[in-house]
Amino acid sequence: MPASTNYTRFQSTLNAVLKKMDLSDEERKLFSEPQHIHKEDISITMDDGSKKKFYAFRVQFNNARGPYKGGIRFHENVDEEGIKTLAALMAIKTAVVNIPFGGGKGGVQINPKELSRKELQAVSRAYIQVFKDCIGPDLDCPAPDINTTSDIMAWMRDEYEKQTHTYSPAVITGKPLSFGGSVGRDTATARGGFFIMQELVEREALDPSDLKVAIQGFGNAGANMAKFLHQAGYTVIAVSDSQGGIYSPEGIDPVRIEKHKRKTGVVTGEYCKGSVCDIEHMKLDGVERITNEQLLELPCDVLIPAALDNVITKENAKNIKAKYILELANGPTTPEADSILESKGVKVIPDVLANAGGVTVSYFEWSQGRSGEQWTGEQVDENLKRIILEGYKSVRRTARRRGMSYRHAAFVVGINRMLEAMRIRGWV
Ligand code: NAD
Repeated sequence: MPASTNYTRFQSTLNAVLKKMDLSDEERKLFSEPQHIHKEDISITMDDGSKKKFYAFRVQFNNARGPYKGGIRFHENVDEEGIKTLAALMAIKTAVVNIPFGGGKGGVQINPKELSRKELQAVSRAYIQVFKDCIGPDLDCPAPDINTTSDIMAWMRDEYEKQTHTYSPAVITGKPLSFGGSVGRDTATARGGFFIMQELVEREALDPSDLKVAIQGFGNAGANMAKFLHQAGYTVIAVSDSQGGIYSPEGIDPVRIEKHKRKTGVVTGEYCKGSVCDIEHMKLDGVERITNEQLLELPCDVLIPAALDNVITKENAKNIKAKYILELANGPTTPEADSILESKGVKVIPDVLANAGGVTVSYFEWSQGRSGEQWTGEQVDENLKRIILEGYKSVRRTARRRGMSYRHAAFVVGINRMLEAMRIRGWV
């Protein structure tokens, strides 16, 4: 049996959903592979004068509903299968929240932490040089992803405009505010997840002050979510980063954690220096040091994976105590874990809905780039809330009517919207 990859895991969920839908073989086939897989070697001159080559990808899954849309990831684990999976999830995600885009994703197999700023800029510009003919404001609009910052988006926009002799602010999103970015893009993923959480709490007649939340990952998505929830009266009992986490049953203040993380680089920074911790200080604050694995199994009401994929597996799903899981990370739960969680009655708000705030505000940035308008923070929030809660409503209704999990329901909603466009275009 071939080894399981992220793409085979995606296909396993997709096939389980397609089986429940009344589609022809021809229609099913449209969802099995991306429309285009572009692969290029990019070559740059390093600071010491040597030349170095990196593998680069742009996968275009489906554009029936609009230009391909999806981030560019700079990571040493980037490979074709992983990028294919993320491109497919983007196609479903843009359809779930009903914004006029398809799905794509890109990446470079590289460890950006080993590169100088000058080398990073050279990689970013080289990426656009090799893929300039397959991207564009009406064709494929990239965005940031893991390790790709707003500066990188700015260099990429500039390179695209140079190469094509055009003014094209809408070619890429996630740019700095001073160079065509949108207000609210930096907090959009967490904001979207927060709007869903608030709606869920209201519908289930829960009280935020009774809810204990554990969050894995304290980057853009996780740290902003921790702050929004804390401000709204939830008790954030644990947070973590790649070096481990901290737990306090009484609750921690994410603003304080962030202040120390900024100074020390880690969420445990207020209490620990490397592996040595100030036990007295921790005792006084009622705080314990925990591993990322322990965080997932803590007694809490809401678990928010906001870091890596495949962290909730068949091995640990049975030990998860949370009643709700809100997936800010992409692909944090394996299909086997999904079945275990479903049988335990855990409600999982899937990535293709829970983290769609990011791409939704990217859509606002793209619109502003095309029209020349500049939206206020209130306009961004109001429209984000409306769009993401509409997506949530469609998923909830489908789940209820068809008696399926929210993940399967989100796939049904996304697939149906994509099919509608493909039928109109005469692809099936
Ligand atoms: P980020 O780089 O800002 O933060 C990632 C966090 O995860 C950091 O705190 C890092 O220390 C932590 N981390 C890394 N390795 C870890 C490990 N082994 N265990 C625990 N934590 C670890 O990234 P981000 O933008 O916050 O993205 C996080 C997740 O959210 C990713 O899955 C990403 O695809 C998804 N996402 C992000 C956005 C967005 O707009 N930022 C949108 C949609 C989905």
